[in-house]
Amino acid sequence: MIKKYTIAMLEGDCIGPEIMREAVKVLRVIEQQSGVTFDLQYAPFGGKAYFDTGKAFPDETKAVCDRADAIVKGPIGLSHADSQRIPVDEQPERGALLPLRRRYNTFANFRPVYLPPELAHFSPLKARVVEGGIDMMMIRELVGGLYFGRKEEGVNAEGKRYVNEVLEYDEDQIRQIMHIAFKESRKRKKVLHNIHKSNVLKSSVLWNAVLDEVAPEYPDVVVKHAIVDAAATALVLNPRQFDVMVMENMFGDILSDLGGGLLGSLGLMPSACVGPEKAYYEPSHGSAPDIAGKGVANPYSMIGSIALMLEKSFGMEKEAQQIMNAMRKVFGSGYTTADLKDPEGKSQVIGTAEFGDKVVAALLH
Ligand code: NAD
Repeated sequence: MIKKYTIAMLEGDCIGPEIMREAVKVLRVIEQQSGVTFDLQYAPFGGKAYFDTGKAFPDETKAVCDRADAIVKGPIGLSHADSQRIPVDEQPERGALLPLRRRYNTFANFRPVYLPPELAHFSPLKARVVEGGIDMMMIRELVGGLYFGRKEEGVNAEGKRYVNEVLEYDEDQIRQIMHIAFKESRKRKKVLHNIHKSNVLKSSVLWNAVLDEVAPEYPDVVVKHAIVDAAATALVLNPRQFDVMVMENMFGDILSDLGGGLLGSLGLMPSACVGPEKAYYEPSHGSAPDIAGKGVANPYSMIGSIALMLEKSFGMEKEAQQIMNAMRKVFGSGYTTADLKDPEGKSQVIGTAEFGDKVVAALLH
């Protein structure tokens, strides 16, 4: 029987459509090679969607996503100036991204921070620090905490404007992300770094208490604790000490961008956002308005997100690995994208479409 999957394609803003095009080229090769059919259904989402339809996450897009087996999402967001032209609650993150995450309860965000040994020179860190490459999995809780808590704003009794945003987690939310993190650790080096701020935040005290309750179910996994601020320093000084890291929503937002910095570019950061019934896949980075329309964006993050979809939503591990190997081969053959350009000019800089074409060629040969 021919297998067919329906995929909602949300191209997003700025560099979104540019990098999505390259990911689709790669997906079409996988289609030919595997015999699996992918029915791609495009739908508006983000800042452009707001200007075209009046909604950042239009109802028709919700319907497309509801029907799909998986969702692929390009980065969304506009330049600061363009964002100001949109009412606050319809601005892309608040109007589209957070509602998407809430709709499918995509609580488990996998953010691989990966540089194979032969590409360690992409990292801005000294060679001795990244010798052997970088390979960690940041797991970020994605639908709780400060980003999803109650919000209130107004004018207080003294006539001053104020805002109140609540950082809230219940124990079930923490438990479910812990199970994800322990299971991932089991597949890897069996060491889990728990990132928290329990010296200050009560939310972290509960976070750690729940971790202690879950840990006995995974006696083969060693748990190490790091306070988030110290973890930021440790990531830069010695990233190779980390394997799987688990953290709440905002810590994960910030530390995973630091992860992109360790690799040399956010363009090397794909991600998977997984819920109980549906998952969506997106680069970890934003829509990069500063380089949009120039054909220079690095599509690795988007193509890598497609690979994560094949692995996690469709059980196509072999094909996912082939894609990652093909991208590694392109970089390993002396090509680079502009974001990773080396100062000595040893690598040949290629554009977004050229990178996609070379990945396709590597998959075909
Ligand atoms: P950004 O992640 O878009 O860009 C930060 C820097 O990284 C820029 O210099 C950019 O050129 C570079 N960069 C990012 N992706 C790249 C790629 N694939 N190739 C080469 N270089 C790349 O962050 P920002 O500029 O702070 O945000 C821009 C917009 O994106 C904002 O509107 C923000 O709200 C939004 N945003 C969206 C998401 C999302 O869709 N999940 C995430 C973060 C930010």
